[in-house]
Amino acid sequence: MSHKIIPVPEFDYFVFGGTGDLARRKLLPALYYRFADGQIPESARIIGCSRTDLDDIGYRQLVEDALKEWIKGNDLDEQLLDGFLSIISYQRIDVSDPNSWKDFERNASPTNPDRITVYYLSVSPSLFLPIIQGLKDNGLHHHARLVVEKPLGFDLKSAQELNGFLLDAFDESRIYRIDHYLGKETVQNLMALRFANSLFEPMWNARYIANVQITVAESIGMGGREEYYDRSGAMRDMMQNHLLQLLCLSAMEPPVSYKPDHIRDEKLKVLRSLQPLVGDDIRLNTVRGQYVENDNDPSYRQEAKNPGSNTESYVAIKASINNWRWSGTPFYLRTGKRLRANMAEISFEFRHAPHSIFTGLDTPIKPNAMVIRLQPDERIDLEVMTKEPGPGGMRLRQSILDATFGGGSNSQTDQGFRMPDAYERLLLDVVRGDQTLFMRGDEVEAAWCWVDSIIEGWALSGEVPETYEIASQGPAGAFELIAKTEHRWRTIQ
Ligand code: NAP
Repeated sequence: MSHKIIPVPEFDYFVFGGTGDLARRKLLPALYYRFADGQIPESARIIGCSRTDLDDIGYRQLVEDALKEWIKGNDLDEQLLDGFLSIISYQRIDVSDPNSWKDFERNASPTNPDRITVYYLSVSPSLFLPIIQGLKDNGLHHHARLVVEKPLGFDLKSAQELNGFLLDAFDESRIYRIDHYLGKETVQNLMALRFANSLFEPMWNARYIANVQITVAESIGMGGREEYYDRSGAMRDMMQNHLLQLLCLSAMEPPVSYKPDHIRDEKLKVLRSLQPLVGDDIRLNTVRGQYVENDNDPSYRQEAKNPGSNTESYVAIKASINNWRWSGTPFYLRTGKRLRANMAEISFEFRHAPHSIFTGLDTPIKPNAMVIRLQPDERIDLEVMTKEPGPGGMRLRQSILDATFGGGSNSQTDQGFRMPDAYERLLLDVVRGDQTLFMRGDEVEAAWCWVDSIIEGWALSGEVPETYEIASQGPAGAFELIAKTEHRWRTIQ
C-alpha cells in the first residue's frame, strides 16, 4: 500500500523547551520522520529555544543524540540525518527575562512575515504566560500559530483565565491545543468507519450498543513528574483531557462536514450532554484508587514523597450522556497508573441478539464488540461469533476480525506502511493550518466543568482513595461499581 506525501509550505518552527523531555522523545523524532519522508522542505527552520547555554552545533548534537535514542532500528539514515540537522538551529532564551527577549527578537524572529511561523510551548504551564507576554511585547505574535500542551488549566476557573490570556494575543483560529490521542491513526479510523460507511451508523446508538468502555491504563508510575502529578491526580492528568476527548469522538453526532469547527461543535455537544455528577451520584458512580507498595515497588505515597497524600492514581467513572442517541448506554471510563499493563482502548459492546437459535451449546454466545486499540499497538478488532470450522455439528467460537485495514504498530507492516506517531501528523497539521484534531477553548472549559464538580464532591466527602495492588486490574470498588449492572470490565492485558 502506498501513502501520499504532500509537502508542506516552508515554515519556522520555534520549540520552546527544545532541550526538554517531550521535545527530545517525541517532537524532534516526529519532525525527523516527516523530513525523511520528504514532507518538510529544506528551506524550513526548526529552532530550539531554552536556557541551556548551547550554540547551533551543540544543539544539533543534542538533537542527534535524541534521535539516536528514540528512533527505532534502521529508520535513522545518516544522509537524511545530516539534511535534517542542517535545518536545526538554537536560540538561547530565559523566557522570564525581558533582556533575553531582546536577543531573541534580534536573532531568531521570523525571517519573512509571509512565512508560516509556529511557536510550540513544550514547557511547564507556568511559562505559558511569560512566553505569550514576551511574544506580544516584541510584536512576534502577529500571524503566528501557537501550540500548547496539557495541562490546560487546573480547574474551570484557571482554564478560563488561560483561554482569556491566549485569546488576548492569538485568535482562536491560530491556537492549537494538542491532545496527542486525537492524532492516533485508529482514532481517525473510528471517524472514517462511522462516517464514511452506512454499515455502522444505524447501530451506533443505545438500541444496539450496550455499553462503551474507555480505558487508558499504564503500568508505570509517575516517572519523574511526581510533584506535578501529586497536585493533579488521574482525574486532572488523564480524565479531563484524553478520556473525555475519546468519549467525544465515540459518541458525537455526524458532523456537517470534516471541517474543524463542525467536528468541534459536535464534540462540545457531547461534553454538554454529560450527566453532571453531584451529591450522592458521585459516590455511586465514581471510584478513586491509590496503589500500595509490594516487595519490589514503592507505594504511591512513597513515590510521591508525600506520606499523607490523598491524590488518586486511579479513577473509574460510570458516565451517562443525556441525549436521544445514548440514553440507556453507560460509558465506563477508567485510567490509572501501576496497573497490570500499558493499554489504551475504546470498546463498543453490542447487545445480545434478541433471540438465540443456538441453545444447548457448550460455548456461551458472547456479545459482539468493536475495539479500537490505541496502545500498545494501534488496531481495530471486531469480535464476532462464528462457526468453529470442521465437521461434527454446530459449534460456535469467538473470532476476531482485524478491521485495521492497512496498518500495524509503529513498524513496517506487510503492506509496507509505517504507522506514523500521532505527533508526526499533529505537528504538520499546525503548518497546514488544520485544527480538526485540536481542542477548541470551549471544549476544554466544558470538560473542566464536568470534572470540577466530581473533584469538589470528593473533597467534600472527606473520603480517601481506595488502595490497589501494583500490577493489578485496579481497586475492588471499580469492580463493585460495574457489578451493579450486567456489564463487566474488559481485562487490562
Ligand atoms: P521538561 O523536560 O522539564 O522540559 C522543560 C523545558 O523547558 C526544558 O527544555 C527547559 O530547558 C525549558 N525551560 C525551563 N525554564 C525555562 C525558561 N525560564 N526559559 C526558557 N526555557 C525554559 O518538560 P517536558 O517533559 O518536556 O514537558 C514539557 C511540557 O509538555 C509540560 O507542560 C508537560 O506537562 C507537557 N507534556 C509532556 C509530556 C512528556 O511526555 N514529557 C507529555 C505530555 C505533555 P532549560 O532548562 O534549558 O531552560
